[in-house]
Amino acid sequence: MSEKTNESRIFEQTPEASSRTVRAQDAQARPDATGKACRPSGSGGQPDARASRWGSRNADRTLLFRPHRANSAWLNLGQRVFPMVLSSDLPVDLEAAILDLKRERNALVLAHYYQEDPIQDLADVVGDSLALARAAQTADCDLIVFCGVHFMAETAAILNPGRPVVVPDLEAGCSLADGCPAGAFGEFVGQHPGAQVLTYINASAEVKAMSDLICTSSNAVKMVESMGGAPLIFAPDRHLARWVSKQTGRDDLIVWPGACVVHEQFSARELARLKVRNPEADVLAHPECDQGVLDQADFVASTTGIIQRAVEFPERPSIVATEEGVFHSIRQQAPGKVLIPAPGADESCSCSQCPYMRLNTLEKLYLSLRDLGPEVSVDPVIAERARVPIERMLALS
Ligand code: SF4
Repeated sequence: MSEKTNESRIFEQTPEASSRTVRAQDAQARPDATGKACRPSGSGGQPDARASRWGSRNADRTLLFRPHRANSAWLNLGQRVFPMVLSSDLPVDLEAAILDLKRERNALVLAHYYQEDPIQDLADVVGDSLALARAAQTADCDLIVFCGVHFMAETAAILNPGRPVVVPDLEAGCSLADGCPAGAFGEFVGQHPGAQVLTYINASAEVKAMSDLICTSSNAVKMVESMGGAPLIFAPDRHLARWVSKQTGRDDLIVWPGACVVHEQFSARELARLKVRNPEADVLAHPECDQGVLDQADFVASTTGIIQRAVEFPERPSIVATEEGVFHSIRQQAPGKVLIPAPGADESCSCSQCPYMRLNTLEKLYLSLRDLGPEVSVDPVIAERARVPIERMLALS
């Protein structure tokens, strides 16, 4: 098929498919379009997670994203080229087709709370990193489809070896994982001989393989306490490290100073203004947020903790400083609950939606089930080493 024909067919999409495709493009383009607002502030000389994600990591791929199929079109957005899904590739009733394929493939679809609502609705399990790791570990199916980001799918592959794990979009990374490259982290660890290594689950398989124990935001305090008083490296989120340090009284943590582009962009100044306008609101914040935001929070907890707290007080409005995908689960359990996204520094930016998580779309979920790819694979030697600290965490949790 000629490129010209492809281009002409792009505009033959149904309005619904077309709007979804545009949303997918927006999500892919967002890190550039909103670069200033989404860039981690105060990262100093540390690895620029966003630059790593969109620049150096992809530099050897000449910034091209591969289409799922040979007849997918390519959309040129500035210097980058993005694949487009053609309407001819997609069934009219996408949801029904996904359900059919799930049955046909005997697939288990896992979705993180930060996925868009329709994906959460079609998933077999919706949860946070810890819940999804557990679900992956015990999955008894022919295929795991992981709707989340790359490190989560890697964790699933590590915990359930031999079980194929596919993702809607292989490029769905994470500023924390990508901002902590294995080579640099190995050097960092080497600079602190004798220190134990506790790594947040938002890290690559290679970094997990260098760790003694893994944690999530819901069990980080418990995992730090389980490690006794030995010198301890905590990676890769500096905000979570600071919060855990306060909770445990461990002010000697050796911290890799990474950050989440979503949680770090919430503005303490704008939040203070919002609180004045909503004095009755319960402010709920994730520990990956900046200290100025946490200082104003009524409740600091993991994603699951935030959802539980919001549901517990259905009549009280909540200002929520985490990825707004959690609103779906809260509204399912507490219909009518008033939810207010915590503001970022840039009001024009939808920065409370993770640009990586939102690369996954219903269309790509369908294609991953249909084409059995893209598949996530982990080097078996790395996987074997990484499995030990992850399983240790699951046993301790
Ligand atoms: S919300 Fe933050 S920590 Fe979670 S996947 Fe996105 S960038 Fe990573």
